[in-house]
Amino acid sequence: MRDPKYDILFEPVKIGPVTAPNRFYQVPHCTGMGYRYPRTEARFRGIKAEGGWGVVSTQESEIHPSTDITPANEARIWDERDIPALQLMTDAVHEHGSLAAIQLVHNGLHTSNRYSRCSPLGPSAQAVIPEDPIQARAMSKADIAEFRRWHRQAALRGREAGFDIIYVYAGHDMTLLQHFLLQRYNHRSDEYGGSLENRLRLFREVLADTKDAVGDTCAIAVRLAVDELLGNDGLQHDGEAREIVEALAEEPDLWDVNISDWSNDSQSSRFSEEGYQEPYTGFVKSLTTKPVVGVGRYTSPDTMVRVLKSGLLDFIGAARPSIADPFLPKKIETGRPESIRECIGCNICITGDNTNVPMRCTQNPVVGEEWRRDWHPEYIPTLADPEPCLIVGGGPAGLEAARALTQRGVHVTLSEATDYWGGRVHLESRLPGLATWSRVRDSRLWQLQQLASAELYLQSRLTADNILESGIAHVAIATGAKWRRDGVGRAHRLPLAFLDQQRVISPDDLMSQGICCIAKNTSVVIFDDDRFYLASVLAELVASSGVKTTFVTPSAIVAPWSDNTLEQERIQKRLIELDIEIIPSHTLSDMSTGTLTIQCGYSGRLREIPCGQLLPVTSRTPDNTLWTALNDRRNQWQDSGIRTVTRIGDCHTPGLIATSCYSGHQYAREYAATDKPQPLREDIILQ
Ligand code: ADP
Ligand code: SF4
Repeated sequence: MRDPKYDILFEPVKIGPVTAPNRFYQVPHCTGMGYRYPRTEARFRGIKAEGGWGVVSTQESEIHPSTDITPANEARIWDERDIPALQLMTDAVHEHGSLAAIQLVHNGLHTSNRYSRCSPLGPSAQAVIPEDPIQARAMSKADIAEFRRWHRQAALRGREAGFDIIYVYAGHDMTLLQHFLLQRYNHRSDEYGGSLENRLRLFREVLADTKDAVGDTCAIAVRLAVDELLGNDGLQHDGEAREIVEALAEEPDLWDVNISDWSNDSQSSRFSEEGYQEPYTGFVKSLTTKPVVGVGRYTSPDTMVRVLKSGLLDFIGAARPSIADPFLPKKIETGRPESIRECIGCNICITGDNTNVPMRCTQNPVVGEEWRRDWHPEYIPTLADPEPCLIVGGGPAGLEAARALTQRGVHVTLSEATDYWGGRVHLESRLPGLATWSRVRDSRLWQLQQLASAELYLQSRLTADNILESGIAHVAIATGAKWRRDGVGRAHRLPLAFLDQQRVISPDDLMSQGICCIAKNTSVVIFDDDRFYLASVLAELVASSGVKTTFVTPSAIVAPWSDNTLEQERIQKRLIELDIEIIPSHTLSDMSTGTLTIQCGYSGRLREIPCGQLLPVTSRTPDNTLWTALNDRRNQWQDSGIRTVTRIGDCHTPGLIATSCYSGHQYAREYAATDKPQPLREDIILQ
């Protein structure tokens, strides 16, 4: 059973008229599932309750068509027709004795109402925050009264849908109530603008409305951003935010506090440590007797205890740690904290919402498949008569396949060519800021090392001969992919014959050999056509070692896909701070001694830049040597006892680490099955 030092985490806490069974609180977070995939959403949230989260919240729930953030896919509570979908979630949460919370939202200036075509609303007439060519209308007194009515109605519908906690939300630079609070958005001269007291008026009124409407049976939570990291240009924890908490201290039943905007609230591990919000949110508890919840990517139970005992928070809030491991509380409760699948802070989960699809998670490949494929993060049906499996390659795909197969009762032999486990995870987690990513390897390896049914071999590069000799019935090839040296990617679809290969370093060279593969007194040009994180991390590595570094990319900005992980601005800032010259919108045109010729993507103009060595980060070639060799000898499989050979991970489809983990997991789920189950479709029924 659990270690008594963790008892404090399991104390019930009263929140107004309701009581949370423990101190694990899944704060509202988006999923990309929203109103379009209500069953997917309900199962996802229900599993968190099953895993021990005492409070489980929705994502932001739009209260009216004038807060329509299509194509994003949040929850909706526009009218009573939305109640049944939300009730699926509250039922799923209540089934396990947890409380269900709904975060009501009007997005104010943060929406352009692309679908509903309503006029956007704001405190003052201003351009909306999304880059859409439309402005918000300054709300009249009648608009304000209407908004209050919508919020009240939504709170009543929330209660009808079964929610125990109803949120009044002012955070993330995304909500009308926050826009009224902020001087940069609120230019009004009536009683809703000017002094803090006036700017706070609407918030106060809506809080009172909500309490009046449902406060007798539901707890009322306030979610407030207490700092925006904008200095004097924004709300500050030791400035107006403190005054707001002082003014409303005992009004809500619970304070949920964080920092704004979303990129500050959900900082990736590349840019922040566990507990990074404490310096900003820590003051709140000293001003109120009401329970306080805050987040900070908490995955360590010892840190959680420290946070509670030091009086910083009453609840351990979590979004990402609860996604990576929905059973985190249960694992602590049952004395298995070492088996927590810790969030690595990569923010791949956030890309779901940002690309309008159900989220995925690097650490938890089950996310998004709980309903569609009936996958559970902790249980996989065992096989009646499992045949053994040989897995070739100990990267994320091979490790996850091995781990999940052992859960099914399969005896696994895992062979890895190098003297380390983790494949690309091992290499990438040694790069600046990515150390936490090693958890992908460590959590899986730890599990495998506990089991007699897993044989693990390093320094075992397998050939087709070895595999045929092994006679193991099922073979998974997880041999990964290698970065290309010839420039082929999105901008250049054919190999660049002019590249002087003597002066080309590949990302694999740099990651495996380190900075010593860069010549002395040289300059390095990084050509990033991959457009996600890796080129920028390698740029950091090279520039930090004192080498003059230039970053050339066909994109208009550095690492554009990292917008989806909320990291783009931080990445570009870091490169600028390291004095890396950034040349956007250029492709490669020629290479001669000491010089690279690049071409403007718009004008076609050529330009020569100094270049001692070139590091192209463009695309990868699947390592299919073994797969091809085995297929060439397919006629020998039967005599050798081999029944199936399957490629998984990057050697099949080079992609994210999350994609490889998913691929390995799917292989284990469908192991040796002749009929692969088709995922369910969640269709919205026409009425
Ligand atoms: P993935 O993301 O698909 O898991 P990785 O590149 O991270 O891919 O890992 C692939 C692993 O496979 C690497 O650690 C590599 O050393 C290993 N590998 C490649 N070829 C062989 C082989 N013939 N025998 C054993 N291991 C191999
Ligand atoms: Fe954590 Fe990454 Fe999973 Fe998000 S995707 S929950 S950041 S491990």
